[in-house]
Amino acid sequence: MSAVNWTVRVDAGLCMGSGICAGTAPDVFVLEDDHARPRAERVAARERILEAADMCPAQAITVLDGATVIGPRPD
Ligand code: SF4
Repeated sequence: MSAVNWTVRVDAGLCMGSGICAGTAPDVFVLEDDHARPRAERVAARERILEAADMCPAQAITVLDGATVIGPRPD
């Protein structure tokens, strides 16, 4: 049985470089030149990734399960 993989994207045009995502899930996001990027596009599913997407002040993070957007979650 394989783990569920999600797709993580950061819109560099929206990211304001707050670093919240990298602080919340440092194994998934890295801050480079004042912008975050995912360390890999496909990542093992876990709650911290959704938390990071929810906390991003620029709504720059998108998390997908297959073709379905699952993060950020609605308030
Ligand atoms: S939390 Fe959002 S705005 Fe802040 S570094 Fe991450 S993607 Fe960029």
